[in-house]
Amino acid sequence: MKSQKLLPALALVSLFVGAALFAAEEKKDAPVSKPAGCCAKAEADGKVCEHGCCAEAAKAGNNCEKCHGSGKIEPKHEHKK
Ligand SMILES: [Zn+2]
Ligand SMILES: [Zn+2]
Ligand SMILES: [Zn+2]
Repeated sequence: MKSQKLLPALALVSLFVGAALFAAEEKKDAPVSKPAGCCAKAEADGKVCEHGCCAEAAKAGNNCEKCHGSGKIEPKHEHKK
């Protein structure tokens, strides 16, 4: 008996949370600098992405849009020793 009432309520809550997440996502969409997934993965492994399209984009200082990156590559502030 209880679960029959609980289920629709849960569905409603998850819908609500989903909408809230979607709204939050929409808010911060302005000038995004998002590395392509392949590039981020390669960088995490300490490598450079091997995709030609990414290399081309990187030369121009951009994240590869073909691989779902966007915007400019953010300058890294590395400490030189
Ligand atoms: Zn890449
Ligand atoms: Zn690419
Ligand atoms: Zn790629």
